[in-house]
Formats: sequence, C-alpha cells, structure tokens
Amino acid sequence: MQSYSENLRMEGERIAFVPTMGYFHEGHLRLMKEAKKMADCVVVSIYVNPTQFGPKEDFSKYPRDLDRDLKMAQSVGVDVIFYPADKEMYPANYQTYVDVEKVTQNLCGKSRPGHFRGVTTVCCKLFNIVKPHMAVFGQKDFQQFITIKRMVDDLNMDLQIIGLPTVRESDGLAMSSRNKYLLKDEKSSALTLFKSLKLAQKLYAGGETKSSVIINEVEKLIKRTPHTAIDYIKICDTKTLKDADKIKSQSVIALAVKVGKTRLIDNHVFGEKLER
Ligand code: AMP
Repeated sequence: MQSYSENLRMEGERIAFVPTMGYFHEGHLRLMKEAKKMADCVVVSIYVNPTQFGPKEDFSKYPRDLDRDLKMAQSVGVDVIFYPADKEMYPANYQTYVDVEKVTQNLCGKSRPGHFRGVTTVCCKLFNIVKPHMAVFGQKDFQQFITIKRMVDDLNMDLQIIGLPTVRESDGLAMSSRNKYLLKDEKSSALTLFKSLKLAQKLYAGGETKSSVIINEVEKLIKRTPHTAIDYIKICDTKTLKDADKIKSQSVIALAVKVGKTRLIDNHVFGEKLER
C-alpha cells in the first residue's frame, strides 16, 4: 500500500482516504463519492479495529460482508480497498499507541474507556500506510472527528481532515452498520434519537439557551420510548467537547442511547441544518 501510494504521489496524483470498519451503507458511500470529487485516487480501508472495542463490546459480532462491500465500493468508483489482517496491523510485540488527552474525556470517552486511544492509534497507522493528502470522516461520529483533527494538528501530520454531514434514513434515523442489530419493534424506538435532536433544535429556535432545560425535555422524551436506556445526553462546546451550560453559536447536542442491546449515537450542531 505504501509503495502504491508513493508511486501515485510521484506522478502528482492526489489521494483521498476513507477509513471504515466495513458493512457499508449509504453514509459510507456518501463519503466515498465526495472523496472521488476531491482527488484522483480514492482509497478505502476496511478494518474492524480490535483496539477500539472494550472487552464487553461487540467486536466479534460486528457485521462483516466483504463481497457486498467490494461491490458497493466499486459502484461509486473507489480505486483501492485496503483490507489488512489483524496480524499485519498489530503484530506480536506491538506496543505503541496515540492518545489525544482532552477532547476524549467527555461523551463516548467516558462510557467507552480506551475507545479513542484505539481509534487514534489505528488512524495514525492507516495514515502512515495509505499516505493520503486528505481523509474524509462522517460527523455522525462527532467526537471521533474532533479527536482525529486534534491528533493531526498536534502531531503535524501532513494531511487534511474533512468532515461530512450525517446521512439519514428517510425517517431520520442516522445510518449505521449497527442498525442491523435492531429488532423489528426496536426500529421505531431508535427514532427517538432523531426526534430528540429535532426537539432540541425546536426549543433552541424558540429562544431556549439553557442546556439543562433542553436536556430535561429530551430526557423525558427518551424515557417515554420503550426499549431505551440513556447512556448520555449532553450539550458541549464543539471545539473542547466540554459540557456547556448555555448554548452558544458553537454548541453540539450529543446523545448515546441503548435501544434493546444496541448502543446508538447521534448529534446536532445548533444552528446547522438537521437533514433527513
Ligand atoms: P464506521 O465504518 O462506522 O467506522 O464509519 C466509517 C466512517 O463513516 C466514519 O468516518 C463515520 O463517521 C462515517 N459514517 C458512519 N455513518 C455515517 C452516516 N450515517 N453519515 C455519514 N457518515 C457516516
């Protein structure tokens, strides 16, 4: 992969990279299509990274379907699929990790200790392997996007990080490979995340800026929904990801809710369009 990219670079070609864990949906394809517009060569990695899963999380049952993924990637003009094995990524005696300290403290960093250390480590490795000029991420994983940007700035990595808006189903549910886990009657409950973001946006548009008020209303809505258990509902500053008491121009509401056994996340930056 490195020599392939090196050759492209010597020919003056621009490389855009989309890191994924596979089991593609339209959200992944959107990133690939946008990457295609920005560069001469689009590289997509498919790697379910063990170091970002906690011991009780869904690493072994995370959905995988390489054949389906290859066809989908080909349909949008992806040039290269990088599909490494665990032994290549983490050989025996592996011992180096990247840790972004502050923006990983809140939100999913609290509920999933070690998760972002795994994410930044694998992204750092993938950036060194793929040597892209730019890498494209979804803002659905807002904290991941902010954390990767921080790492790239802090470590002077020579690539541009691009964030793209969340792609949703027609009913508003954010697309996710994990939606496959949802049982039939849990699907409507999963919509509570999008409805919560809509409610928060409506309250804010009506003049409410106190985070606690909005969080309380959202909490009530989710608690009324069957099959749900709240992990967190938070309003944070978009740069520091610290809790914000009041909504300012740069604030995000971020949710993590378990629907049945499936943990879903979603977010909305106040003032931005909440697209279906
Ligand atoms: P994953 O395979 O879930 O690790 O996701 C790979 C990339 O796709 C990450 O940058 C995600 O943020 C992005 N992504 C996942 N779901 C969506 C979505 N619904 N809309 C936009 N991007 C997404």
